[in-house]
Amino acid sequence: MAEIDLGPFPTESGHAEAVALDRADPLGPFRGRFAIDDPELIYLDGNSLGRMPKASLDEAADLVGRQWGSRLIRSWNEGWWDLNERLGDKLGSMIGADPGEVIVSDSTSINLHKLATAALDLDPDRSVILSDDLNFPSDLYVLDGVARRAGGRLERIRSNGAHGLPEGWERAIGPETALVALSHVAYKSGYLYDMAAVTELAHANGALVLWDLSHSVGVVPIDLGAAGVDLAVGCTYKYLNGGPGSPAFLYVREGLQASLRSPITGWWAHADPFGFDLEFTPDAGIRQFHPGTIPVVSAGLIEPGLDLVLEAGVEAIRSKSIALGGFTVDLVEEHLSRHGFEVASPKDAERRGSHVAVSHPEAWPINLAMIDAAAILPDFRAPDTIRLGLSPLYTRFLDVHTAVIRMLHLVEAGVHHEFRGRQATVT
Ligand SMILES: *Cc1c(COP(=O)(O)O)cnc(C)c1O
Repeated sequence: MAEIDLGPFPTESGHAEAVALDRADPLGPFRGRFAIDDPELIYLDGNSLGRMPKASLDEAADLVGRQWGSRLIRSWNEGWWDLNERLGDKLGSMIGADPGEVIVSDSTSINLHKLATAALDLDPDRSVILSDDLNFPSDLYVLDGVARRAGGRLERIRSNGAHGLPEGWERAIGPETALVALSHVAYKSGYLYDMAAVTELAHANGALVLWDLSHSVGVVPIDLGAAGVDLAVGCTYKYLNGGPGSPAFLYVREGLQASLRSPITGWWAHADPFGFDLEFTPDAGIRQFHPGTIPVVSAGLIEPGLDLVLEAGVEAIRSKSIALGGFTVDLVEEHLSRHGFEVASPKDAERRGSHVAVSHPEAWPINLAMIDAAAILPDFRAPDTIRLGLSPLYTRFLDVHTAVIRMLHLVEAGVHHEFRGRQATVT
């Protein structure tokens, strides 16, 4: 297989700027707080699986060695029992939620199922869910299943290309529409929705709103309270760096908690879990939406990542994310557009989350060649998109520059031709 120069590339345009931007970056020191054992590898997949904070190893040792190994069942009264509420409140503080409005629970898919079902159960005359074709397909599968069980249907608005909802979309909200459910940042193009404006239009037309924050939490400022959002879900293993399969979270606006009923009941959701009453009485607060024992080790490992985001501050993270994204777009246009690459994300930073999607007719073999021959980890989304995930706590401007120049050398040398026709399970 062809070898390519891994850089750095001091004579290529953009290098001096990258070095200067890194030097002036107030978040630069945070990179040292993550386990990074391969200096050549450029990790551009923090939008899919965040890197491991160094503190997670100590936390894992404490969770497994001390809390489980020595404290055993006593640990339930020493922090395990309300771990998911405590972490929920901590996470809630970065998304404009009040204490008691967020809980760490289950997976994003299951939380979406619980909250969408509860929203449809509110009014038997309203069983239609409105979403769009930029939403994560898995979310659409969940919403479709929920709507069908309620005797309704999922309606998908056709987006403006990769760029969000078309003008007048709210006319699709009808008397049967219960819920508008969207992703805050589109998983593929990175389009960032105007949460407050969409929520206001949905409310004005009589629907509740549910946002999936998986691609925005920890990297885009979010104020659910100010926007009047009803419901939200999201995962903790992307920009929050909680670890593979770490539990997700859900948000229910305080004023709605008494009227909604979670469709999945269980002892953790009971008003008196240790009363072991034979009848179910739901907890009056957010616990009602979490049915059973949490995976303690995995949930506990969310905390180091949350602490890093809170220490850095989401506003500072967003500023760097915007700068990294703009730098990426400029470099792709300068060095790669003549080789068939196009920026598939919004170029307006205000409307972009923290990954930059590039499209190319040969995106699949190029993506494989980036991984195997160029020591870059991006990801691929069919049919023609490569996502470059920029995670401001550890992605440097020089990483972006080096990655783009490696990509340039790779396509110039035709290295990707060797990868045509190869398959992979996880893309
Ligand atoms: C990552 C992501 C999910 C993940 O769902 P899981 O239940 O953890 O598999 C869901 N929705 C969106 C929009 C995502 O980006």
